[in-house]
Amino acid sequence: MFSGLKDKLKSWISKTKDKIVGTEKPSKPVKTKAKSKPKVKTKPKKSVKEERKVTEKIVEDIKKENLEISSPEEKFEKQGFFKKLFSSKFTLQKEDFDEIFSELELVLLENNVAYEVVEKIKKDIEIQLVGKEIDKKNLEEEIKNSLKESILKIIQEPFDLVEKIKNFKESRPFVIVLFGINGSGKTTTIAKIAKLLLKNKISLVLGAADTFRAASIEQLSEHGKKLGVEVIKSQYNSDPASVAFDAIKHATSKNIKVVLIDTAGRMHTKDSLMKEMEKIIRISKPDLKIFIGESITGNDATLQAKTFNEAIGIDGIILSKADVDDKGGTALSVSYVTGKPILYFGIGQEYENLEKFSKEKMLERLGL
Ligand code: GDP
Repeated sequence: MFSGLKDKLKSWISKTKDKIVGTEKPSKPVKTKAKSKPKVKTKPKKSVKEERKVTEKIVEDIKKENLEISSPEEKFEKQGFFKKLFSSKFTLQKEDFDEIFSELELVLLENNVAYEVVEKIKKDIEIQLVGKEIDKKNLEEEIKNSLKESILKIIQEPFDLVEKIKNFKESRPFVIVLFGINGSGKTTTIAKIAKLLLKNKISLVLGAADTFRAASIEQLSEHGKKLGVEVIKSQYNSDPASVAFDAIKHATSKNIKVVLIDTAGRMHTKDSLMKEMEKIIRISKPDLKIFIGESITGNDATLQAKTFNEAIGIDGIILSKADVDDKGGTALSVSYVTGKPILYFGIGQEYENLEKFSKEKMLERLGL
């Protein structure tokens, strides 16, 4: 899970370190073949042992800050030279930053990070690193930390769904409406949430409000049967808002704590889908609107989340199929683009394969 992006980030950080520290290394003299040896007298060469002794002495002197140099000019010149050779600090210039960031930009874009998120990361890291005096020894850590801080700002702090429900003290049921495009794993994810609530001894009912697909009503009923949860449904093509209404009415009369409402994922136009969603919301007045998207679809999922958020205002996100997503960029993008938290990752086809999202775990997954 997300190991592709993790490896690429690791390799970028280490390459960047080499590049920056490398630019400070004294350049190697270029070897050229001499056509004929010049016949000039040269000083006899010192032996390697003698040369090492001299170098050691110089280093020792620098350490003690005890340079015994006669003229102030000579002292200044030598100090400058030694400083360059042995200085452990350097300042990252804007041009160098732009060059190294262009590589990171490519890594991020290739791994499903949306362009506006890449721009945000660039701005954050630039503020953190450019013009700052950095110790070469800490360079890798500095780059890592600036990236980490930026990502921490990008991903929103999740709330605990189960806690939120447990803390809900009103006499009516807690209503959750779930959205997402067909095939994104919506039905499976709803069943996973149902399982999670049951595990926490929270009673629930399912509302099959995706009345545009007969298969979807059937699928949800199957899950209901397996989980031992009642499913409120109606005929294929009936009014989804009225199914939602019936499910809430049922829960209220039976004193059931939670209503999970499935909705349609495809209609002939985006506008008609959004109008339908608005109607369901108007009728059911949900406590939470959760978008379910497929982690592997990258920018598609990000765009869907954005569209739903603009039309109906989502409260949280669940990304399914994260277990088969090597890239991981969708998780960064959906959260930033919508400003809403990811609550869970779907990490498999079983009911238990729902992983609670945490910022720390996300950073760990990215090796930061
Ligand atoms: P819907 O059309 O959006 O309701 O999608 P479904 O719930 O029917 O899921 C479509 C397919 O994705 C099914 O084969 C599911 O088993 C599979 N699926 C759902 N969630 C996950 C997940 O987190 N990981 C994996 N690997 N597969 C999943």
